[in-house]
Amino acid sequence: MVVLATAVTAAPGADKLAQTLKISYDEHNFLSEAHPKLRPVETNTAGIFLAGTCQAPRDIPETVAQASGAAAKVLGIIHGNELEREPATAIVDETNCNACFDCEKVCAYNAVEEKEIKNRKGELIKVVASINQGMCQGCGACAASCRSGCIDVQGFTDEQIYAEILAS
Ligand code: SF4
Ligand code: SF4
Repeated sequence: MVVLATAVTAAPGADKLAQTLKISYDEHNFLSEAHPKLRPVETNTAGIFLAGTCQAPRDIPETVAQASGAAAKVLGIIHGNELEREPATAIVDETNCNACFDCEKVCAYNAVEEKEIKNRKGELIKVVASINQGMCQGCGACAASCRSGCIDVQGFTDEQIYAEILAS
């Protein structure tokens, strides 16, 4: 058997692009979808979609079909007056936050910000971590890194997980 096909490799710099966009890529530097069956054109970063040979070697019909799917996903985002976001995002217990910012170091999506809490006279009381709800992807890395235990991912608090265990 003679196979008349040339090798396909990822574009140079694809790994750097993936790191910049905070999306996954495989050992051959092809970009990875969020889920092969349930989210085939979406990436782990909201608003970034894949189509074509950036993901893997594929032919033109498959690329066109995938690009149509990605375009439909984009239209679904921008057609309304309001943007939707992940409901399961992290929240900070500002009372107990000691501003160590370990959470900021582990957040791959740059969603952790500094927030100044001031009194009525405008004097600075303390600085705490704050989660940008539009950028948070709900991965939970910050919650695991917080030694003060003052970050929860909504829907996955300790109480909610214990209740789920007890109910099962
Ligand atoms: S890791 Fe916890 S205590 Fe430290 S800044 Fe983040 S939320 Fe605050
Ligand atoms: S849940 Fe993940 S994406 Fe959201 S702030 Fe924490 S580390 Fe960042």
